[in-house]
Amino acid sequence: MARVFKAKYFPKTSLLKATAKTNSSYAWKSIIHGTQLISHGLKYIVGNRAQIEVWNDNWLPLNPPKPLSEPGAYMFPHLKVSDLLYQGNWNEELLHCIMNQEDASHIRNIRPTITRSPDVISWMHTKDGVYTVKSGYHLQHKLSHDASLLVNSVQNHIASNTFSKIWNQQVPQKIKHFWWKCLHNALPTAENLKKRRILRDDNCQRCVEAIESTNHLLFQCRVSQEIWSLSLGSFHSGTSPFSNSVHQNVDFLLSFNNHQRKDVSISPFIGWHIWKARNDLLFKNKKLSIPDIINKAFMDLQQWKDSLLSNQEKTETGKSQKGEKQVFTKSVSKGELNLKANEYYCFVDGSWVSPTEIAGIGWVLYTANHKVFLQGSASINPTNTPLEVEAEALRSAVSHVVRLGYNNVKFCGDASTLFQKLGYVMEKEQKCQNEHSFLATYLQDIMYLSHTYANISFVKISCNVNTTADKLAKEARIAKSGYVISWL
Ligand SMILES: [Zn+2]
Repeated sequence: MARVFKAKYFPKTSLLKATAKTNSSYAWKSIIHGTQLISHGLKYIVGNRAQIEVWNDNWLPLNPPKPLSEPGAYMFPHLKVSDLLYQGNWNEELLHCIMNQEDASHIRNIRPTITRSPDVISWMHTKDGVYTVKSGYHLQHKLSHDASLLVNSVQNHIASNTFSKIWNQQVPQKIKHFWWKCLHNALPTAENLKKRRILRDDNCQRCVEAIESTNHLLFQCRVSQEIWSLSLGSFHSGTSPFSNSVHQNVDFLLSFNNHQRKDVSISPFIGWHIWKARNDLLFKNKKLSIPDIINKAFMDLQQWKDSLLSNQEKTETGKSQKGEKQVFTKSVSKGELNLKANEYYCFVDGSWVSPTEIAGIGWVLYTANHKVFLQGSASINPTNTPLEVEAEALRSAVSHVVRLGYNNVKFCGDASTLFQKLGYVMEKEQKCQNEHSFLATYLQDIMYLSHTYANISFVKISCNVNTTADKLAKEARIAKSGYVISWL
């Protein structure tokens, strides 16, 4: 039985770190409830440190023992105690950089093992460290009492401030916690780290024009301002809507959202991704472009909406789905598209008049629930045939969509020859050796781009359902416009 549970529920972790999913069996959920209780009462005695998680396990030798506290959890969320050691001793540099110095001094009091003896897990509510049912019951009682006290005080506190509005938003827990930290000035910004004497330089590393406070980082840095104005669209030109107060700015975003009457707001996601991008730049030296940051936020929002929707569908089985979904399925012939919740589809089209005139390309990315999500269009130099414009439109769509990180995409277009050839090449898993027409280079590029992403496929559709992409391509051709990608 234990082996069955191990294989099914925690193949890659230990029992104490395993979790229950909604579809887990009753027996397993009961076990997990027990282990969660037990893990509250455990302390870890550092041995060979292979398994102890720095930010989660109670391993600091205090009374009661506790995990390390922030700020480093942001930078190294999966850190094990063994990572804090270097050649058998504590790595002083890490101890300085990623934790508060009170915690660091407790760590220095732990002497690393020299014989590589294993970590010891011990129960902290009995003298001999051995678990008893009576002490477990006692702990459960205490925890539920503490939790209700905590809930009361938190509720009183948030009722009167901006955070209650965030709390009531339909956004993931991690994002609520992020905003809670923003509003309580608890983010490890350069300003806060300098105050704690962890950093010397408190400048914003993105603009180097001001101190990196929470408000600067999120709202006043010109990088962030551009992100907000691009993603929310209708700010008055030239003037920033943001003040010097984080609270006021959050209020502004929330009222902006109400005004727009969107069901789930993008704003909480944008802020979270500004913070993530800042960390990527600082700690991974990874510089994301502004469109990439916005795009990640929109993807996150979309995934969140999808998950809300699929939960809703589960609870509302039997109810008919109304709205855009039906409109769409009416206009596409049966069996052409069969999408799962996490899939996207991208309609692609070209617009061509003659071999001497500017042509146009357009593409539209839809979510599985048939909402337009992202679109792109451009005018391109003249091509000899309309098929070449179609091929360029597809190549361009694949390259942008793939670059932006979508990898469950069905690309749909109405150019029969192109899609037949792609279908043939993909089915036979051949590289385009047999293709000697002008299409060869396009096919090679498209295959190369999609080979790296296993879940990309191509579907031929009839041209009467490809109207949106067709319109985009035509408009771009007529306006002779540059490449425009927009989020909707
Ligand atoms: Zn800045």
